Amino acid sequence: MTTQDPAAHPDPRAEALLRQAQDFADRVVAPRAIDWDRADQFDIATLREAAVLGWFGLQLPEERGGLGLPFSVKSRLTEILAGADFGFALSLVNTMNIGHKLVRDAPHLADRYLPDLLTGARLASTALTEPGAGTDFGAITTTARRDGDGWVLNGGKAWIINAAASDVILAYAQTDPGSRGAGIAAFLVDGQREGFDRREAFALTGQHSIGVGGFELHGYRAAADEMVQPPGQAFKYALNDINGARTYVAAMCCGMVDAALKIAGAYGRRRETFGRKLVDHQGWRWSLADADIDLAAARALVRHAEARIDAGQEARHEAARAKVFATRMAERHIPVLGQLMGAEGLSASYPFGRHTMGAKISGLVDGSSEILRDGLALRHAREPDA
Ligand SMILES: Cc1cc2nc3c(=O)[nH]c(=O)nc-3n(C[C@H](O)[C@H](O)[C@H](O)COP(=O)(O)OP(=O)(O)OC[C@H]3O[C@@H](n4cnc5c(N)ncnc54)[C@H](O)[C@@H]3O)c2cc1C
Repeated sequence: MTTQDPAAHPDPRAEALLRQAQDFADRVVAPRAIDWDRADQFDIATLREAAVLGWFGLQLPEERGGLGLPFSVKSRLTEILAGADFGFALSLVNTMNIGHKLVRDAPHLADRYLPDLLTGARLASTALTEPGAGTDFGAITTTARRDGDGWVLNGGKAWIINAAASDVILAYAQTDPGSRGAGIAAFLVDGQREGFDRREAFALTGQHSIGVGGFELHGYRAAADEMVQPPGQAFKYALNDINGARTYVAAMCCGMVDAALKIAGAYGRRRETFGRKLVDHQGWRWSLADADIDLAAARALVRHAEARIDAGQEARHEAARAKVFATRMAERHIPVLGQLMGAEGLSASYPFGRHTMGAKISGLVDGSSEILRDGLALRHAREPDA
């Protein structure tokens, strides 16, 4: 039996953190998010307030200054924060991810960068996508050429979360043009070094708190020990890590629908038409039930994928199902729940517009809905022993 409260947790330390997150989401993120979108703002100061609470080290071992909590707590943290603002939650988790990957795959680089990542002094990104290659990751054209002991990187990255300001970046590059995934390696790119040129932050139609942007590498020199994942491993690792990302993005969709459901319900208890509260009109109430049912189903898929990741089990299909289902649920229900509030639902003081944009972003990041459906379909389209 899964509870519908993402902050309810059997581990008291995890529950305390998640209750603190709910308070931060309600008190800090939700009111500020209204201005972030109006002013096209990527609010680094609020990310640093979150860093003070220790969240950037949530999954790291205590000897690395972390809290030693499992993936599922990170996923629930993003769910709670996304209820207030999807972009803020996704920005935060992208910096968290790099600290975790450096500790796991390149401890010598963690020694160098972790102190700044834990305080939010420096922000981080994972950069796969390029102007010419998104879903087709194997087609990236950023190159890494051997130069003595090290590497020289050339190329451009686009649509990267936090890249409006981040300068600790795990960037993927091709070491053997024409070899697709087999030649791709991952490098730690330091945005304060020569050869790194940041592009202007991308103008979105909403959700500027995600800090999405791009950069170019012109003869950027990476030392041999700045290759975090070698060719042959990087592609595999990227696809493996992405199961976690797909799961927490699905959790974030649940957070947005939960918030929309609560706001619409509360409005319906206040607003009267035809001499009754809105909630007393049966036709009005049904949309709440539809969202409630799909939200419970999405959460069950998310909790299942989280549990498998915590247990170190394969979660490819579980994460894909959770993300496709939760994204569609959010795309469908957020506008309907906004409609329940009439004209008020369109006001910038409510999150329906921002959350609708969040659902659209969810359908693209970390594996688009089309590609994930294709992957799931192939299991059935092929012979079992193929
Ligand atoms: C806000 C935002 C943040 C992002 N953050 C990051 C980040 O931090 N790091 C990063 O590396 N990338 C990031 N991305 C990029 C994201 O991963 C890509 O947008 C995504 O992979 C889709 O690639 P594309 O936009 O180039 O679309 P394309 O690859 O050009 O595809 C266009 C459309 O066609 C569909 N399509 C493509 N091929 C097929 C097929 N074989 N069958 C059916 N349909 C297909 C796609 O699903 C998509 O709907 C971000 C994107 C956005 C919008």
